[in-house]
Amino acid sequence: MMNNNEIDESIAGPINCNACKSSRHSFYIATGAMMSQDDSRSFTFHRCDTCESVFLINPVQEEKLHSYYTENYLPYRGANAWGVYAPFVEWDDRLLNTKRVNMTLRHVQKTDDIHVLDIGCGKPDFLAKLSSMLKVNAVGVDFKAAQWDDPAYKNCSLIEGDWHTTELNYSFDVITAWHYLEHDYQPLETIEKCYTYLKPGGTLIIEVPMYEGILQKLQRETWQGWHSPRHLTLFSLRSWKKMFPDKQWQIVKHHRYGTLSAFTLWWLGRQERKKIQWGGSMQHKFWSLVVWKVLLSPFFLLEKLIPMGVQIIIVRKK
Ligand SMILES: [Zn+2]
Repeated sequence: MMNNNEIDESIAGPINCNACKSSRHSFYIATGAMMSQDDSRSFTFHRCDTCESVFLINPVQEEKLHSYYTENYLPYRGANAWGVYAPFVEWDDRLLNTKRVNMTLRHVQKTDDIHVLDIGCGKPDFLAKLSSMLKVNAVGVDFKAAQWDDPAYKNCSLIEGDWHTTELNYSFDVITAWHYLEHDYQPLETIEKCYTYLKPGGTLIIEVPMYEGILQKLQRETWQGWHSPRHLTLFSLRSWKKMFPDKQWQIVKHHRYGTLSAFTLWWLGRQERKKIQWGGSMQHKFWSLVVWKVLLSPFFLLEKLIPMGVQIIIVRKK
């Protein structure tokens, strides 16, 4: 558990927007620690006057963040957290990775012998699926190996460590970052590094939460896009133009929806509001989740028309 001194240390000095470095910003929202049993801390997000991104002004020091990646962090437990219903959750994961592969294939300019890097690859099912469909040289980087000894990943080169200090020996046709950049303490450095590692004409695909969507307005402090203190920056629509200047990048597409379903984000926010024990089994919640999914399906079917809380930006290196 953290103490308040650590908050003071981490906010010492001038605070600038993570997306555009502007020092002009003001209070937007305060939340507790999410997907966590630590209720002693409050996290404050400011909104940048210049680029409209929202960012955490009192982050946990990066080297101490591991205290928030415990058994309470549901994504780490994967399908097993759902007990006998794990196969349904695995099926849903496969669907998610199929969406990611399809999104990637829509934007690759060749389909043979491509070099793909996935930053924050986690359990690298996306890379494994892509490798099963194309001749791909697949590289994944994550600060923590997640079941990487599984034979399903034998064709992927996986690197455990900090992406910011990882040296790679390739140039890439495609770099993907599925829900990575909002966790990044230096997102502008990451974009610069992606620029260096992309081939000319190479594509960068980034999916992140979007606070300018209906779910944040409905759920406010319990919206899972905050995910405090793991998420540092909620990028605005306006920030992308600043982060990807015309000189270097062409913005190919911006989708106001993601591969991650908006319903999942909503349901997790509902659990946050109910203050559930995140470290416990989720098995008993399965049927309630299914009922909610069916009841709300007419609304969530509109997720490509009404911005709900996820976005994808696709840019090309000039
Ligand atoms: Zn800004």
